[in-house]
Amino acid sequence: MYTVKRTRTVSCQTASSVDKQFTEKSVQCDNHILNSYNRDRKSSHLTYDELVENYLGNNECIIKWLQELEIIARSVVCPQCQNLMVLISCNDRSDGYKWQCRKAVNGKRHKVESSIRKGSWFDNSNMTLTEILKFTYWWCIGLDQSQIISQLKLSPNTGVDWTMFCREVCLATIEKKTEKIGGDGKTVQIDESKVGKRKYHRGHYVEGQWVFGGIEQDSRKCFIESVEDRSEKSLIPLVQKWILTGTIIISDCWKGYINLEKYGYVHKTVNHSKEFVNKDGDNTNKIEGHWRQLKANLPTHGRRKYHYSTYFAEFMWRYVHKQADLFWVFLNDAKQLYNPSNI
Ligand SMILES: [Zn+2]
Repeated sequence: MYTVKRTRTVSCQTASSVDKQFTEKSVQCDNHILNSYNRDRKSSHLTYDELVENYLGNNECIIKWLQELEIIARSVVCPQCQNLMVLISCNDRSDGYKWQCRKAVNGKRHKVESSIRKGSWFDNSNMTLTEILKFTYWWCIGLDQSQIISQLKLSPNTGVDWTMFCREVCLATIEKKTEKIGGDGKTVQIDESKVGKRKYHRGHYVEGQWVFGGIEQDSRKCFIESVEDRSEKSLIPLVQKWILTGTIIISDCWKGYINLEKYGYVHKTVNHSKEFVNKDGDNTNKIEGHWRQLKANLPTHGRRKYHYSTYFAEFMWRYVHKQADLFWVFLNDAKQLYNPSNI
């Protein structure tokens, strides 16, 4: 569903120690990074100042840090001779370092070079490592795309592309972690809604997109799916995909839900034309609040229908990880998708 933004060609291994690849003067930098990294993860969220001061000092620090996190490759195998390549400093790349192999095979010396970014979140970009890390950090804390573009003096296209890449990481993560919600004794509120329906000035009309979702009453477990329409035929398969049988499902009186009991669920309804809470105290406030927040978080213009699934994924990703440090969560999720040791 999502597009992977890079091609993957060079083989990598995790083998040699990161320290060996750098000069002695960088060792202190490394210890500092590891200590503060561990401390940051245990305690409060990483602030922007801490990011800049602790990790973005210079290319060497950044690369060592990214290698420790295994976000970029710790070692790379030469595609010509299968030996480990050497990390060398250089002036012809913004990273200041590159992988190189100059070994001789059968008396003939070859020269193979490779980017330290190959296969990683940083691959195929003209931005510096610092710029991408700042972009990622600001995106995670919810800075507006136009503000990030202006801070980093990026072209609008680059900014749009990278926010899309960020949302794709959310989509891939959410899709991979698909887990049914509810179960015996659990209650799930479900509802369908249309998002993005809007009439702009000069009569330009945007059709909008139906969404269907559910949320567990006593947790942050939830799902959101785009649907073509809200017919029973469209909704029931999604209920079965996402909600365990035996679950108590609360919905409004939409006719698409009338057969839920036949599929193994306990179904309770709230008639919204008459009441917000039924006689048993059931309501759908939580899922309706979810829609309100989702709609408030959708950009007001420039979005296309096929991008909706990534917006929904971003919304869910932020919702599920509300208490966590989103920057660390994101780096870890991006690593699963752009894993340099898998290429
Ligand atoms: Zn080689």
